Amino acid sequence: METKYIFVTGGVVSSLGKGIISSSLARLLLSRGYRVTIQKFDPYINIDPGTLNPYEHGECYVTVDGHEADLDLGHYERFTNTQTTRANNVTTGRIYQSVIDKERRGDYLGKTVQIIPHITDEIKRNVKLLGNTGQFDFVITEIGGTVGDIESTPYLEAVRQLRWELGDNSLCIHLTYVPYLKAAKELKTKPTQHSVKLLQQVGIQPDVLVLRTEQDIPMGMRRKVAQFCNVAPEAVIQSLDAPTIYQVPLMMHEQGLDEFVIKKMGVECHQEPNLEAWNNFLAKLSSATKEVKIGLVGKYVELQDAYKSISESLSHAATYNDHKLKLVYIHSEKLTDKDVEEKLSDMDGVIIAPGFGQRGIEGKFVAIKWCRENDIPTFGICLGMQCIVIEYARNVLGLADANSTEMDTATKNNVIDLMEEQKGISNMGGTMRLGAYDCELHPESKAAKAYGKTLVSERHRHRFEFNSDFRARFEEAGMKCVGENPKTHLVEVVEIPEKRWFVGTQYHPEYQSTVLDPNPLFMDFIKAAIAFKEEKNK
Ligand code: GLN
Repeated sequence: METKYIFVTGGVVSSLGKGIISSSLARLLLSRGYRVTIQKFDPYINIDPGTLNPYEHGECYVTVDGHEADLDLGHYERFTNTQTTRANNVTTGRIYQSVIDKERRGDYLGKTVQIIPHITDEIKRNVKLLGNTGQFDFVITEIGGTVGDIESTPYLEAVRQLRWELGDNSLCIHLTYVPYLKAAKELKTKPTQHSVKLLQQVGIQPDVLVLRTEQDIPMGMRRKVAQFCNVAPEAVIQSLDAPTIYQVPLMMHEQGLDEFVIKKMGVECHQEPNLEAWNNFLAKLSSATKEVKIGLVGKYVELQDAYKSISESLSHAATYNDHKLKLVYIHSEKLTDKDVEEKLSDMDGVIIAPGFGQRGIEGKFVAIKWCRENDIPTFGICLGMQCIVIEYARNVLGLADANSTEMDTATKNNVIDLMEEQKGISNMGGTMRLGAYDCELHPESKAAKAYGKTLVSERHRHRFEFNSDFRARFEEAGMKCVGENPKTHLVEVVEIPEKRWFVGTQYHPEYQSTVLDPNPLFMDFIKAAIAFKEEKNK
């Protein structure tokens, strides 16, 4: 079949969950046997979100091919169980860069380069890139931002043109917000009507409206919205707050979203989606009564989107281990020797978070020391792993000034050091060690046992590495380097085998945990945390 293009736009306010709606629809179409991909177009000028502070835009997600991407790509992968790449996330910066490169090359020689047609053509070319591979029946394109934003105008113009060119092979889903006014005890659809008008003004007629709401929207009100907005009544769908985002595909299916989309695009609708595995996950999620309590020590705890993939990975693992996840965020900047016991003693397991720079680092050492001495299941990720190494050097090897050269360029005990390949790099954007690399695990290690194999591939995002000059001293003292890159021998995993579960990974396993395929290392960490909890309760 010809590739079908579904555009997802948003109105009224941001943060409505376009990514979740796109992912849910993709899940339903996949479960019906179609081949689906989702891509996100972000209207900001940054080339990618890699240089953004997590406070600005939440976590930076990393794809297998080493693209620093919007966190929505994490949702796409977790819902669809399908890997994304650089082609799935495009920003205004990338679009302009490509157009300007073409201009310099002389591709537009003699012409004035303009937003229309040159920028819009470049957007259209990128929208169709994945569809043109022939690998997908449906390409879902999420347009970042809100209709009416100056920044998203060229994207909406590109969508308008594409809809005209693609005809029935395209469709637009518009997501809006229906507020509930407590004082009046009323739901209000006026913002939705205005938002659809704005979309119509730029020449786009939505086919489906998804109304985000905290209260059930009566059928009569939905029909009214349909009438005002030129949309079929069955295509006005509500998206009520859900106990878990993973419930949303079912909520959309119950209201016929997938069926409407398929029929509207002239595709034969032969089978119901097979959601058996998905439902099995949801059943486990809702029936779990026992709790596993995990502390996450990091410095971006005010904004939980900063650790999105980690919290989701923990939730997948807890669910498959028949437990409810109780995740407690612990501010590393505020953690001291005085209060560490009070803050951590209740935890069944502790995560030492990834990160950059000095701020909050001393609190991570405090947490690690306490966890090591009290034998708490502990999992350090990226900077978390590096901190595990530094703490061990300081407090076990007796190297008081041990550090990473990221924090102290002068230290002689540079147990974590800048990678050789990073030394000549001055540009900050897209220059870290990024994407998936192989890691060979020692067969007796906890990590190898968790994965059930000795060769794994996980994703990276770092500039610094374990300094192998110190390897023998660490191993003699009891911290083993149990995972390394088979080509470069870079240390990827460290463990203290004599502890219950004390593992640090230079890579980020959280980028590869999905609802249908939880990450084995997170599974094993949660298992260890549950076992520890049961031991404490005996
Ligand atoms: N700042 C460290 C490095 O660049 C760790 C990065 C991270 O935690 N993602 O190596």
